[in-house]
Amino acid sequence: MLAPARHTANWENDEVSVAIPYSAAGVGTTVIVVSKFTGRILLMDVGDGAVRDLLSTGSLDFVNEIDLVIITHGHFDHVGGLWTLLGFLRMLERKDPLNILVPRGCIEVMNIVRGFKESYLDTIPFQINVFELQHGSGFDTDFFKVKAMGVEHYGMENDTDRDILMPAVGYRVQIGESVISYTGDSRMCQSLIDLVSGADLAVIEATHEQHPNPSRKVHLLELEAR
Ligand SMILES: [Zn+2]
Repeated sequence: MLAPARHTANWENDEVSVAIPYSAAGVGTTVIVVSKFTGRILLMDVGDGAVRDLLSTGSLDFVNEIDLVIITHGHFDHVGGLWTLLGFLRMLERKDPLNILVPRGCIEVMNIVRGFKESYLDTIPFQINVFELQHGSGFDTDFFKVKAMGVEHYGMENDTDRDILMPAVGYRVQIGESVISYTGDSRMCQSLIDLVSGADLAVIEATHEQHPNPSRKVHLLELEAR
């Protein structure tokens, strides 16, 4: 069994609180960022169980405080909870638009959102907008200023043994004067170093204690992340 303490974390300062209710590669990752002044939420990746994790952090109304969803890449352990989140917000009769940021070419999220819209047609009481970001592009709301930076994440989205680069970004998020950096499943690359430099908090996903196969372009090792 996975030891829970290795997969959860919490951090806060005067302006922002960050909860990682659960993160494990191949299972699910969700990071909940809350602006302390406004109570608004930035959700970073929507792994399986994200709604359950949000409800364990706050109330029903808390879930409706989601201001923005940012997704690092389309692997199932980072988007698996998105359908449930959309269904939950529909059940709550959310009125505010839901904006979702993805790396350009993230077909998984496009397909989830398209399927959800096609399934429920005109019974979804809120707009769902997906914005494709690439290296250097930004997106600001009244509460969160977000900048995307391309990072290297190789997947096995082919039928060979060759690792191929998939659409993946890390994010720098500014809340007031605080800066939080986040990257999911990246490997070591210059933009990852730029992404986390000077941040008040860097949330860096690392998978292995030791390199499982030196010929494969895998996620960060824990030591590399540190
Ligand atoms: Zn991944």
